[in-house]
Amino acid sequence: MKICRIQTFHLRANLSTEFAFSQFRYSTRETALVAIETSGGLTGWGEAYGPAAPAKAAIEHLFAPLIDGRDARDHEDLWHLMFARSVDHGQKGTLLAAISALDIALWDLKAQAAGLPLYRVLGAAETVSIPCYATGFYFSDGEPLEIKFAREAEQYLSQGFRAMKMKVGLGIQRDAALVAAVRAAIGPDVRLMIDANHAYTAVEAIALGRRVEQHDIFWFEEPVSPLDLDGYAEVKRALTIPIAGGECEHTRFGFEPLLRRRLVDFAQPDLCGCGGISEAMKIATLASIYNVHVTPHAWGSSIGQAAALHFYAARPRHPATLTLEDKLIECDRSEHPFRTAIVERPIQFEAGQWNLPQTPGLGIAVNRESLTRFQ
Ligand code: MG
Repeated sequence: MKICRIQTFHLRANLSTEFAFSQFRYSTRETALVAIETSGGLTGWGEAYGPAAPAKAAIEHLFAPLIDGRDARDHEDLWHLMFARSVDHGQKGTLLAAISALDIALWDLKAQAAGLPLYRVLGAAETVSIPCYATGFYFSDGEPLEIKFAREAEQYLSQGFRAMKMKVGLGIQRDAALVAAVRAAIGPDVRLMIDANHAYTAVEAIALGRRVEQHDIFWFEEPVSPLDLDGYAEVKRALTIPIAGGECEHTRFGFEPLLRRRLVDFAQPDLCGCGGISEAMKIATLASIYNVHVTPHAWGSSIGQAAALHFYAARPRHPATLTLEDKLIECDRSEHPFRTAIVERPIQFEAGQWNLPQTPGLGIAVNRESLTRFQ
């Protein structure tokens, strides 16, 4: 299991329609992937969340030389070796996304070598599928959002989703009207979450929360800046809506104050950014101490999606309950030209559920030829 080659890929594709959320406009989709080959002939795949070019550079110039030639099974050791190298220069952000990609690839290798799907290697019982929620309702120009959102809601209902997350951040009045429109379109029994992508101050987020509380909001995601922990505390205290956050956070050290201070009810590590499978497991362990739910943020290609799904399948519900487990994982519905095009076995989605890959490793089989189309 000696690491003998580490390759990186920067993929990019133009979107047919530009879309936006409160922070950015998107006209292209990009990601950085990594492939680790071993002396035994196995290849493990990983993905980095966030800006692709710097993540690719960090893998190539900083971390790959550190772990090349090492035994891929030493993944815990290798994680700490890489993190120790990054601490002086970047304890969060792109360097952690680069470590995440390599860590996911090492876990993919470990599970392939064990001949088991990754979630089984992580200790989970055999699982067929996990319910997911549709992430959509992005902003776009042209058609009025009320009409676009009503159509989207219909689509998600017909695809079997029983939970949906919509973007907010257009101003309190506008957001409140759009939330009311979506709730009217989906009826009272479908879960509805809102995501501000930290567009608001605490005072504004509280005002919006009070306006939409009547619509039975399952969670309010990133109400305020990830840098404003006291703002999170104010929002938490003022609203009855559960608060979610953490997609911009990294490592157990970054999540620790969010959890200890109970600033979120749902912690959302991104497997491709928080430090990979290894670190997400530690974050989840911390979250269990503070009785905070964990549900991964997932916005990447099939590789990132698979990593999130295997990780999530392996997390027992905490606190325990005799009633049915209440897992719910993100399923982004925005345009992503290469999300499934780069793999031979995309994760199957059926009736609001994601089927867990059952072949060894991540279980999605990357197709190198189709990768070149997007490089
Ligand atoms: Mg979000």
